[in-house]
Amino acid sequence: MEGLMMDYQLNVPAILRRADELYGDREIVSRQPDKSWHRYGYADFASRAKRLAVALRSLGLDDGDRVATLMWNHHEHLETYIGAPVGGFVTHTLNLRLHPDDNTYIATHAGDRVLVVDKVLWPLAAQFVERVGFEHVVAVGTGETPEGAIDFEELIASADESAFSYREIDERAAAAMCFTSGTTGLPKGVVYSHRAIAIHALTAVSLLGISEADTILPVVPMFHANAWCFPFSCTLVGAKQVFPGPHLDPDSLLEAFETEHVTLSAGVPTIWMGILQTLDAKPDGWDLSAMRTMTVGGAAPPRAMIEAFGERHGLHITHGWGMTEMCPIGTISGAPGHERGLGKSEAYDRRAQQGPPIPFVEIRARGEDGLIAWDGQSMGELEVRGPSVASSYYDAPDAADRWTDDGWFKTGDIVTIGPDGYVEVQDRAKDLVKSGGEWISTVALENALMGHPAIAEAAVIAVPDEKWSERPLAVCVLREGSSASDAELRDFLAPSFAKFWLPERFEFVDEIPKTAVGKFRKTALREQFAGGGAVERTQA
Ligand code: AMP
Repeated sequence: MEGLMMDYQLNVPAILRRADELYGDREIVSRQPDKSWHRYGYADFASRAKRLAVALRSLGLDDGDRVATLMWNHHEHLETYIGAPVGGFVTHTLNLRLHPDDNTYIATHAGDRVLVVDKVLWPLAAQFVERVGFEHVVAVGTGETPEGAIDFEELIASADESAFSYREIDERAAAAMCFTSGTTGLPKGVVYSHRAIAIHALTAVSLLGISEADTILPVVPMFHANAWCFPFSCTLVGAKQVFPGPHLDPDSLLEAFETEHVTLSAGVPTIWMGILQTLDAKPDGWDLSAMRTMTVGGAAPPRAMIEAFGERHGLHITHGWGMTEMCPIGTISGAPGHERGLGKSEAYDRRAQQGPPIPFVEIRARGEDGLIAWDGQSMGELEVRGPSVASSYYDAPDAADRWTDDGWFKTGDIVTIGPDGYVEVQDRAKDLVKSGGEWISTVALENALMGHPAIAEAAVIAVPDEKWSERPLAVCVLREGSSASDAELRDFLAPSFAKFWLPERFEFVDEIPKTAVGKFRKTALREQFAGGGAVERTQA
């Protein structure tokens, strides 16, 4: 017997239509390059997104054509993010921190036909625009429009909204595209379907408790992993959206949190570490009483940071783990209910773990002898599946080995899983240290070191060793005015780790190199301290 329900398509047009009908007055605000604020309501946003859809069609685009973006987080980026898929096209976010050669490769490989670019980022775009050969360049913001480009405002003004109608776009069609950071090998394209985005937006809404009553400031760039789905989940429920534009320093963000009464924000640990240091220096500097939770993900947040926000500033952290290939959220820890009955310290321990899988993400992990037990001890590579998980990369037949024979995606993360499904990421497979045949988790050592009062940042890498094959080396950044010796740091770690885990070598640097989305770039550290790729493993 077949179910007798409507064949309703889960797509981005359905998200926009809802916002358009229900939330016309809710605000979307963006910080402009000159630090002034741009404000309008969802009604204006929806009208402009629809006109953009019409205008893109008039430029000659067909269904499925890619529209690249190179922009900061702001309302015009949101209009493109949503307007392009609503028109039947595919938004492809380019990362403004990548080298122009990488963006040339990525945009060419994706077959991007149009580039929508911030005028303030034109000097960067100019380095690859011709090489890619976009058919149209659309320039956003005030100031001069580059020669040959179309002004975004003129493009929108030229479109007739009455020519727009919401289409029943097949939910399996592509809506957006994002390339993985590609720390090994060439970057790989992930293609999000309308259905994956709609399901994921709904899950994020329910797990983070996002509603019309929220004001959300995503620090996470819109080009990082689908912006953790916030543009879609916020629009779905009419949450007020606050975009920081190019102003990502702690003072500007804290000011925005206060003046816009932000209730939820999201970013990588580096962002939150900077905010914590600023708050520690000026604990009464800002009124953050509206903030209900700050979401951290993209890399492991140190437990000490989660605790410091809670204990010193009364601020709650929600911790998520995810991947570009997963839309991107896979697990969430610190959601309401997770810490019921736990003491404070145990609750922080738990929140430093990555958490249980979100609905419709299934997990399992595989060690050398097959699938591991969910005992919180055994380690294996995490495998996932679900409706918001990639089933392949775009045009990358050489990467088929990232999926198991029965179709699960191999994450490349080495984890333990507790009896209650709580995942704890031990390392990227390629970052683990194998010393005398035993694994050492660099993430655990880094997190512990970042709990030392003198350490601002710490990254641990494997270095070759004649006797043990590899040993951990800790690269540390000291807090301003602080000092710490190797012996002192080893003594600090000793109570928490087996003796063979303790690094012999500590290196002190001014800054740890970061990837384009703010994670520790361990490949650079290995080149600097471990003699190139000597201990690089092959897994992506
Ligand atoms: P990306 O697709 O660039 O966001 O990178 C995904 C990878 O980032 C994952 O496979 C993890 O290695 C790492 N990652 C993301 N979130 C976390 C987290 N909360 N804790 C530890 N690692 C994380």
